[in-house]
Amino acid sequence: MLNDHLGRAIAGSGKSEIAVGDAGSVPVTCPACASNEVRTSLDVESFDYAIDEQTTVALDAPVRVHTCENCGEEFTSGDAEEARHEAVCNYLGRLRPVAIRELRKKYDRTRKEFARDTGLGEASIGRWESAAAIQTASIDAYLRLLMIEENYEATRAILNPEADLDSRRAERGCRVRTSRVAAFKVDQARARSRHFHLCRRGQ
Ligand SMILES: [Zn+2]
Repeated sequence: MLNDHLGRAIAGSGKSEIAVGDAGSVPVTCPACASNEVRTSLDVESFDYAIDEQTTVALDAPVRVHTCENCGEEFTSGDAEEARHEAVCNYLGRLRPVAIRELRKKYDRTRKEFARDTGLGEASIGRWESAAAIQTASIDAYLRLLMIEENYEATRAILNPEADLDSRRAERGCRVRTSRVAAFKVDQARARSRHFHLCRRGQ
């Protein structure tokens, strides 16, 4: 649904050229004449981002531009779209695709497992990670909370308690029958009773 964010992004004017030192490391072939004599530079591309029907903002994205030394053809690689997507994420204050992937990898989860642990849609996770869509502000806040391991574990215990049991079995090499939710309840009860004792002693 948010794919059209980039569809509405219109490639623009900015042409402040910065030379890229390691441009020769990956051979680029000219699509017009198939020459490998291609010069790569980093342009700051200005594009219009439509916030809604009425409002448009101009954003900058660093885009690699290739120029063929043989025929003069100018072209960009696929990473240009990604750069625009990241610029929009930065503008909106949302996690970039790479940050969402890192979050999932932090817990060593596949997209399917991550979806089960968090209640998020597997297809949505894929779209956010591949820069095809941008998560809403509330989902973004949820993802940031999940960066804290305690929050992730608590969420997983509620939404996917079976996985929790499995991982704990694997960790401890034994069967664990109590779920994390039950463990929290016990902890809370203990905390309450401690509090109760302290109050009684104080009076
Ligand atoms: Zn060429």
